[in-house]
Amino acid sequence: MPGKRRAAIQWEEASPSAPSPATNLVGCFDPLDGTVLEAGERIVACLACGTGYHKTSWEFLAAHNAGACCNCRHTSELTYIVLGQEAASAPVDARGGVLKLEDLRNHLNKAVVFEGRVISHHVSRATGTHFIKFHQDSNPFKGFKLVVFASEVVRWEQQGIDPAAYVGQTLQVRGLLKDHPRYGLEILPKSPASIRVVQT
Ligand SMILES: [Zn+2]
Repeated sequence: MPGKRRAAIQWEEASPSAPSPATNLVGCFDPLDGTVLEAGERIVACLACGTGYHKTSWEFLAAHNAGACCNCRHTSELTYIVLGQEAASAPVDARGGVLKLEDLRNHLNKAVVFEGRVISHHVSRATGTHFIKFHQDSNPFKGFKLVVFASEVVRWEQQGIDPAAYVGQTLQVRGLLKDHPRYGLEILPKSPASIRVVQT
């Protein structure tokens, strides 16, 4: 595994958009210039933490910050998203945009904040991939889950966090919600920084 590039610019606090519970990024703030991400805008989103950037801001980070997200400091885990027009007027749900299991299907391919209780934890014997599951099911691949690849577990270890210890805890997770053709609904957190334990 290549050495982690260190961001040239260090931010002391999370970006203004970080705590936003919005189910998508319209109306969130670009953490670099502090301006709002507009509906219809083609933005760059960090896949690790869900933070969105104007294209120009991202180009600046690429040139001057080793391509590291200034919220979570990860590099090169990006996607381009055209922010939906409809989202600007979409009502935020009663939970302030924090999604539960039953809401997830309606928010595919969006940066979301999900909250739920971890039912089980499974490590693939073949690949070392960790599956942190929110559904009761004997099939380790079925149901919504967090997927942490073996090469990334070190980021949990560095912070003294055992992913297995999430079992029984209620977590709030920020990230891009995907529906993998084989593995189903998943968020791939790249760091424990995008996971917050709300209840143990
Ligand atoms: Zn990030």
